[in-house]
Amino acid sequence: MAYVIKDSCISCGACEPECPVDVISAGDSIYVIDADGCIDCGACANVCPVDAPVPAE
Ligand code: SF4
Ligand code: SF4
Repeated sequence: MAYVIKDSCISCGACEPECPVDVISAGDSIYVIDADGCIDCGACANVCPVDAPVPAE
């Protein structure tokens, strides 16, 4: 299980420093999460102004 960042991401960067395992980075158009390392903590979702990070289906 991992979080994914939805297209609604505005690339504000707020989530990147909050991730305890550093798996969030700026992608081509939006920020992205490396699913292999995500520990499903929800810290990124807690700071996102547009609720873009969500648990993957
Ligand atoms: Fe990082 Fe936690 Fe967000 Fe996964 S859920 S990307 S571990 S902050
Ligand atoms: Fe995108 Fe939300 Fe992260 Fe900002 S905090 S970069 S809007 S996912």
